[in-house]
Amino acid sequence: MPKPALFTTAPISAPIDALTLAQALRQAQQAGLERIDAQLLLLHLLGHNSRAWLLTHDDQLLTPAQAQQYAALCAQRLDAVPVAYLTGCKEFFGLPLQVDARVLDPRPDTEILVEWALEHMPPHTPCRVADLGTGSGAIALALQHQRPQASVTAVDVSADALAVAQANAQRLQLPVRFIQGAWLSRVDGVFDLIVSNPPYIRQDDPHMAALRHEPRQALTSGADGLDDIRAIAAQAPAHLHPGGWLLLEHGWDQAEAVQTLLRQTGFAHVCSRQDLAGQWRCTGGQWLNQN
Ligand code: GLN
Repeated sequence: MPKPALFTTAPISAPIDALTLAQALRQAQQAGLERIDAQLLLLHLLGHNSRAWLLTHDDQLLTPAQAQQYAALCAQRLDAVPVAYLTGCKEFFGLPLQVDARVLDPRPDTEILVEWALEHMPPHTPCRVADLGTGSGAIALALQHQRPQASVTAVDVSADALAVAQANAQRLQLPVRFIQGAWLSRVDGVFDLIVSNPPYIRQDDPHMAALRHEPRQALTSGADGLDDIRAIAAQAPAHLHPGGWLLLEHGWDQAEAVQTLLRQTGFAHVCSRQDLAGQWRCTGGQWLNQN
């Protein structure tokens, strides 16, 4: 008897024979999905969240309807839709965030920026922090969760992004303050720390094709990818206490340019941090002058 196929050339409405979970996973990988993505999508479909469960139940059968839904999810993933948009959630710094195509899919590398920021936020001590271009709220919510005494302001120019971030804050019961505006243009006040994962990809970067489902506004920033970082560096000093830090995420090859920019703006102690792949991914500096 021929094996039932998940990825058939038959129209999507044609019934697909029942498959075991193991068969469905194998077929998804044969079609080109990463193993982890195939697992996450199947768990999402079945309403489970443990990969261990999947391993111990892989002889269970998918109904034909489930197999069809799984095939549709896998087809979207093969078309480069982020897994987080398909499952509707992403874990970031231990927090379950709800995400969709209105916001950038939060990356694990951005947790490096959160760790660095936390080094400048002593526990049990009030401090004022701004997260610029908050998107899903990932950075702001992680900092507020780790430092309940901090007063965290999250800014985004996109009303759509703010709606996602505010819903996450409400669901997680984290008292972040939200402001709509371009970088610091609508923000009053002075902070001890400003963090941002702004758009930083060159507008003609060939990698943009693979990121086509995410908001372009959250990804690209002019010819050299540095337009928004220049704007943030220019605006930040007026909003930093003397001694306050500006910490930025940027592209893998932009550390030198961002270091130069921060030094030229008057920041001291400028330095960079590596991401999980060893790329210099974040650069920051301290504002020592009076404003
Ligand atoms: N790190 C993301 C990527 O290169 C981009 C995020 C951003 O532009 N801030 O896929």
